[in-house]
Amino acid sequence: MTARLIDGKKIAYDLRSEISARVARLKSHHNLTPGLAVVLVGEDSASKVYVRNKGIATKEAGMNSLEFRLPANTAQDTLLDKIRALNEDPDVNGILVQFPVPDQISQHAVIDTISPEKDVDGLHPINAGRLASGHLTGAGAALAPCTPQGCVILARTAVGDLAGAHAVVVGRSNLVGKPVAQILLGENCTVSIAHSRTRDLRGLCRSADVLVAAVGIAEMVKGDWVRPGACVIDVGINRLPAPEKGLNDAGQLRTKLVGDVAFDEAVEVAGHITPVPGGVGPMTIACLLQNTIIAACRQAGIEETF
Ligand code: NDP
Repeated sequence: MTARLIDGKKIAYDLRSEISARVARLKSHHNLTPGLAVVLVGEDSASKVYVRNKGIATKEAGMNSLEFRLPANTAQDTLLDKIRALNEDPDVNGILVQFPVPDQISQHAVIDTISPEKDVDGLHPINAGRLASGHLTGAGAALAPCTPQGCVILARTAVGDLAGAHAVVVGRSNLVGKPVAQILLGENCTVSIAHSRTRDLRGLCRSADVLVAAVGIAEMVKGDWVRPGACVIDVGINRLPAPEKGLNDAGQLRTKLVGDVAFDEAVEVAGHITPVPGGVGPMTIACLLQNTIIAACRQAGIEETF
């Protein structure tokens, strides 16, 4: 069998088009332009790229993008004061602090300080609790983390109704593994969560109708871990040396991105599979934009139509 590729770029493009149309309607019908504030502390080069891309995507969707850059030696209190000011700012509907933050700043303190109603990363304990209690739509519902939402949209787009499917999530981080498991439970899957202490991981994975790999180990999930016909969602982003690509301008070996799934093997067994890159990655920003518009609607008391 050769799996069908799940085209994350296309699905994200469609979602972003829908979001742009919704933003245009919010502007014309309600005089509301959603605003997303992104805060970057320090000079991490990957974080700078992520922040820039989020800003571009926000503007492309017709929303306001505010970017705040603070030096690497920023004190925790200074950052928390900035977040509190953004919490109070009526032009800001969503707040995202780009992680990682420098060592002197507690990630937990940052997450806890962002207003749950503006927490478009969906990491605040109130949002995690709302997600865990199945409160997913309407006023006071969870803002769910973006990458997990993206994973489930991809799986649903590929195979349709997920009810009754056995979903195995490898990874239990607060950012990906746990929330993706909660959202899949909300889709009426039977969910198993695996981690570094799981026994017979291969056997468990082979029992999955939907297999989500969010581990951070390049190509760990082998082809013979995949049940024939399963839907495989690969969250991993890992960089490996790619000697076949030669050297870059600085004379270093070029690299390539690979997922947590051994794609060349799994594609022969799975029914549907996400590529890396071009699978889950593009969905994360699309879902961030979606969370911003949901947050803006709720703050303005406008019914959501997503
Ligand atoms: P974390 O490092 O926070 O979590 C990794 C999880 O994998 C942990 O729960 C860990 O288990 C589990 N794990 C580690 N080793 C094994 C093993 N040998 N067998 C089974 N489970 C194992 O990573 P994240 O959740 O933040 O990210 C996971 C991957 O997703 C990374 O590659 C990351 O780059 C990528 N990612 C991609 C995004 C995107 O937009 N596409 C966004 C976010 C992340 P334990 O808890 O027992 O230690």
